[in-house]
Amino acid sequence: MIKVGVTGGIGSGKTTLCKEWEQMGAYILYADDLAKKLMNENDELRSKIIKVFGEQSYDASGNLDRSYLAGQAFEKGRVEELNELVHPVLWENTKLIEEEKKREGVKVFVKEAAILLNNGRPKDLDYVVLLLADEENRIDRTKDRDRTSEKQIRNRISKQPDFNELIHLADFVITNDGTLKELKNKSQQLFKKIIEQT
Ligand code: ATP
Repeated sequence: MIKVGVTGGIGSGKTTLCKEWEQMGAYILYADDLAKKLMNENDELRSKIIKVFGEQSYDASGNLDRSYLAGQAFEKGRVEELNELVHPVLWENTKLIEEEKKREGVKVFVKEAAILLNNGRPKDLDYVVLLLADEENRIDRTKDRDRTSEKQIRNRISKQPDFNELIHLADFVITNDGTLKELKNKSQQLFKKIIEQT
């Protein structure tokens, strides 16, 4: 099973690339989605979040209050604290899913995550793909998609690394400043290339 990491900043096009690859047969693990699922369903993690961030982290029906927690993380500067709680559980579960997919005969396993290169290049990945796009393009696209304010997006961007400085850690770099169609074409071509050279 080939293991590929796909990373890049907010609105850089990670999900769009992964959707193309999914259609071409890859299994995609969306790290953000899994993290949210675990924050809701993993009791140990849930208790830790409540202990550190307070009861307000979950609403009256027991669901994660994402906007409260995002506020704590991004506006109150507590991203690291949250990451320290979530990452070990996320890592453990990623490994379990990876093993399961291997047993199922999946050929290409992809981990899509904004946080992938923070501690250097993960050794367990065969390839790392980095998506780059102009900051203004990323803001416009994210604003349209999430209906969030430009200020909030800029704030989130300021908490992410400068991905231009991480190019040396990637095996493939895709720039996404053209049309959506161009991104989809580039994604398909890269998938073929990865399959061919492995
Ligand atoms: P996030 O990290 O915020 O989840 P992402 O990196 O996964 O973002 P996408 O969700 O793929 O980014 O793209 C963000 C939005 O921009 C989507 O609505 C997508 O359709 C759109 N988009 C991506 N690339 C282009 C492009 N080249 N032209 C126009 N729209 C684009």
